Parts: sequence; structure tokens; C-alpha cells
Amino acid sequence: MIPASFDYEVATSVDHAKSLLKQGGEDARLLAGGHSLLPMMRLRLARPSLLIDIGRLSDLSYVREEKDHVAIGALTRHHDVNNSEVLERHCPLLAHTAGLVGDPQVRHRGTIGGSVAHGDAASDLPTTLLALEADFVLSGDSADRIVPAMEFFTGLFATALQPGELLTEIRVPKIGTNHGWSYVKFNRRAQDWAIVGVAAVIDVSDGVISRAAIGLTNMGKKPLRATAVEAALAGADGNGIKDAAARAAEGTSPPSDTNGSAEYRKHLVTVLTRRALEEALTR
Ligand code: FAD
Repeated sequence: MIPASFDYEVATSVDHAKSLLKQGGEDARLLAGGHSLLPMMRLRLARPSLLIDIGRLSDLSYVREEKDHVAIGALTRHHDVNNSEVLERHCPLLAHTAGLVGDPQVRHRGTIGGSVAHGDAASDLPTTLLALEADFVLSGDSADRIVPAMEFFTGLFATALQPGELLTEIRVPKIGTNHGWSYVKFNRRAQDWAIVGVAAVIDVSDGVISRAAIGLTNMGKKPLRATAVEAALAGADGNGIKDAAARAAEGTSPPSDTNGSAEYRKHLVTVLTRRALEEALTR
């Protein structure tokens, strides 16, 4: 289908983007890689009156090592997240997950900020950022505010972003040598969205898990944490993984679609959680 008509402006700076957002009001939308917004416009699920193209704001494309975290500009493409040496050293889980998003074309256009702001429960990066306990920097009219991932995803394609705000940076804590990690994505073809995905980050000392953060993809209206599994893992060793993983579907409400029923997903998530935890223990 052809999108409804819209006006188009190219933002030349973050401030320019914010003033265009203000001018355009509630019907204005930012355009980053366009790989989620443009399909929605073609299906007329989105009908912005003004598109503000932020795709050329190169100063929002970076991966930087800071003291206790890695800072990633919102316009950083999935390909660059996947190939970042800084992330490979300090947060390999995120680099790994970015390499599983779509196909090379999608990874060369799509941005981490667009993926986060879109707030799709079936996307891989929001889940991983939830498990990593990332922070998001939102820039609006007044001072920037920092929103933890746990508070950012609020519902079906809904986030804490307010009208007039721009996501400018993602901050991920550095993962130390006492951490294990994994992202397991289940799909039928390599380039497909996850039928279910599981991100795991564990703190391990002498083979004992002291803390676990588990993120679930496509198991509800928004990216979820598997809190029952996390609680069951505290103080467990490798032998406790199977029983803990069996609780992965608790509190979830996955969709039913042509790829699988809700019941199938509820079983699948227990299997994938076990696999993710077993893999995390070896890293
Ligand atoms: P856009 O489409 O430009 O924007 C998406 C939304 O976010 C819009 O509402 C926009 O206004 C808003 N936005 C964008 N940037 C900002 C910002 N800085 N601040 C505030 N709001 C902003 N994703 C997966 O996770 N896994 C997959 O397997 C996968 N497969 C895909 C396969 C195909 C064929 C396609 C087309 C997409 C796929 N995607 C997948 C989605 C892809 O990762 C998108 O790139 C991503 O979801 C959106 O990023 P974008 O830069 O394209 O955002």
C-alpha cells in the first residue's frame, strides 16, 4: 500500500529535531532507519503528518567506553553495534544480539535507538537491554532525563518517551569476567523475527549463581523479565538450572499467530531459558 501523505523535514542537529517535533505536535514522527516506521506507514498503521528525518545526525552514531558503562548513540546501526570492539570487550551480549537482527540489509539501516523507541516485544535488542539493565537518555524541552530499561517499556508498542522527546543515548553497564551471558533466538529462518527469544546475564562465583537477569522476547505485550526464574536461580549451581527454567512462562501472556500458539510459546520459553542459562554458565 502507499502511505498517507505527509510533510518531510531533515533535522540538522538534535536541537533542530526537537524544535521540529514541537512544531509538528503529536502527529510528528522521527525517522531513523525507517525499517519499522515505513512498513507501518505503508500499512496505514501509522499516519504521521510530519516526518522528521534524523538519519543524518552522525554525532548520534558512536560506541564509547565510559568509566562504568558503554555509551551508544541512538543512531548507531545494528551492524556497527554488532562489530564494535568496545562492546565485544565490555558487553559482548549486546554485540552478539545485534548480529541476530534481521538480515544484513536491515542491520545496515536499522538503528539501536529506533529499535528501542519502537518498543516492539518481538524485537531482540529491547529484551537484551532489559536483561543488561541499560539506561536510556531522553532529551526534551528541559534537562535530559535518564530512564532505566525496566521503566521504559510500558505496554504494546508503548514507551516512556513523551511527545517532543528524542532518545539520544543508550548506556549499558560493563560486564565483568564473573558474568556469563547468552541470547538464544528461536526462528524458522535465520533472518526472521524471534518466535521466542531469551537473554540471560548471570553473576557467577565458584560455579554458584549469585544473581541472574533474564529477558524474554515475544512473550507478552512488552519485553519482559522472567522474575520467577531469577528468584529461583539465586544461590543455585548448574544443577538448579532445569528447575528454575521450568518457571520461565510464569507471568507471561504470549501471542498466538501463524508461527505458534501461546501454549507452544509457553513450552518453548522454558526450553530456551534452560539453553540460555547453560550457555551463560560456560562463558
Ligand atoms: P524507525 O523505523 O526509523 O523508527 C521506529 C520508531 O521509533 C518510530 O516511531 C520513530 O519515530 C521512533 N524513533 C526512531 N528513532 C528515535 C529516537 N532516536 N528517539 C525517539 N524515537 C525514535 N528487529 C529485530 O529486533 N529482530 C529482527 O529479527 C528484525 N527483523 C526485521 C526484518 C525486516 C525485514 C525489517 C524491515 C525489520 C526487522 N527488524 C527486526 C526491525 C529493525 O530492527 C528496525 O530497524 C528497528 O526496529 C527500528 O529501527 P529504525 O532505525 O529502522 O527505526
